[in-house]
Amino acid sequence: MAEIKTQRLDSYVRLIDISRDLASTLDLDVLLDRIVQAAADITAAEAASILLYDNTARQLYFQVATNMDEPTMRGLVVPLEGSIAGWIVTNQKPLRIDNAHEDTRHFGDIEQTTGFSIESILGIPLVTKNKVVGVLEVINKKDGDFTSSDENLLTVLGAQAAIAIENARLFHQSDLISEFVHELRTPLASLSTATYLLLRPEMSREQQEQIVNNIHNETLRLNSLASSFLDLARLESGRVQFRKSTFDVMDLLHECSDVMETKADEDRIQIRIIEPEGPTLLEADRDKLKQVVLNLLSNAIKYNRPNGSIILKTEIRENKMIISVQDTGVGIPEDAVGHIFEKFYRVRENEAKVSGTGLGLSICKQIVQGHGGTIEIKSKLGIGTNILVGLPRVSKTIPR
Ligand code: ADP
Repeated sequence: MAEIKTQRLDSYVRLIDISRDLASTLDLDVLLDRIVQAAADITAAEAASILLYDNTARQLYFQVATNMDEPTMRGLVVPLEGSIAGWIVTNQKPLRIDNAHEDTRHFGDIEQTTGFSIESILGIPLVTKNKVVGVLEVINKKDGDFTSSDENLLTVLGAQAAIAIENARLFHQSDLISEFVHELRTPLASLSTATYLLLRPEMSREQQEQIVNNIHNETLRLNSLASSFLDLARLESGRVQFRKSTFDVMDLLHECSDVMETKADEDRIQIRIIEPEGPTLLEADRDKLKQVVLNLLSNAIKYNRPNGSIILKTEIRENKMIISVQDTGVGIPEDAVGHIFEKFYRVRENEAKVSGTGLGLSICKQIVQGHGGTIEIKSKLGIGTNILVGLPRVSKTIPR
């Protein structure tokens, strides 16, 4: 009895420490990670996870778990109907189940994907200002069943966690929005100058045509800025689920090269694909990977020189599939290489000459990292740039 009391006291002290820690973290990923670790810890559970609730889509999706293979699990949709987490959201009440397999609310897909068997489970809703933001679950009590005291501890942690999640989200959103608004200023300023000039009576027909052309290009850029930005915001929020399949990466490279052929021809740039000797099968989200290769090819054309060339090839290194895009272009100054994956970053020297948003490489990085991969850049000013994408060939968990 005395031992149980000390244990509980330890848990409460730990809870106070955690609350302080949570309140000071504004990075959502770090925060969620800390919450699940703490939840498993204070309830002596084998694992813990957080599902976030999307109020608009009325869907729950997996965000973090102590035992999660991130690329596979992140963004996995859990239905409101027929799932324990869904029941918790709908009823806004905690739920404790000793034998999950016998419960009709149990949603088995997650187990199938992770290969992790769920015996007992305790879940609570994460609520702030009467709004459910998600569900915190602890899975498989190490010794015996979850108790009402575990439920109380988890509820206190949940209340702190919900506020911290909301704060981190608001902070992130305002950060993103202010960056976006800042980026809108330049094209809007040039549009406003262009329309002002267009209305001046002294403009010749030829000058007017040139201005209209400018307006057209700026609106195209604004459009691409908006859709790239949305893409990136979705990827950063972890709401994008990667749908994996097994495919031949060489087919993908040929497909991308065909798409970019006209653009390359216009600039008299030759794209060469080198056929590899090793295996070429890869398990990944094909559409998302296509977006990465198209982006890299588009850059290799945009920042190339007339009559330049691009080499596309793959190789296997330490059981990773490396996709390499190499160009004979302008290269990147040494002091800029470290910034190249930052949002909106563009090399100053090329900014005026080549149109772009500075978001393409950030999107590539998010997609590659979402697959548990790496993206690397090697560049020599005036000689060319080589981008290397390294991807695990097979996903660690069972494909769905
Ligand atoms: P964007 O091309 O729209 O500006 P990216 O995020 O794709 O945005 O690239 C960021 C910056 O990196 C570009 O503005 C360019 O200066 C530089 N860059 C990217 N790829 C290359 C390349 N292959 N060669 C030279 N510079 C490049």
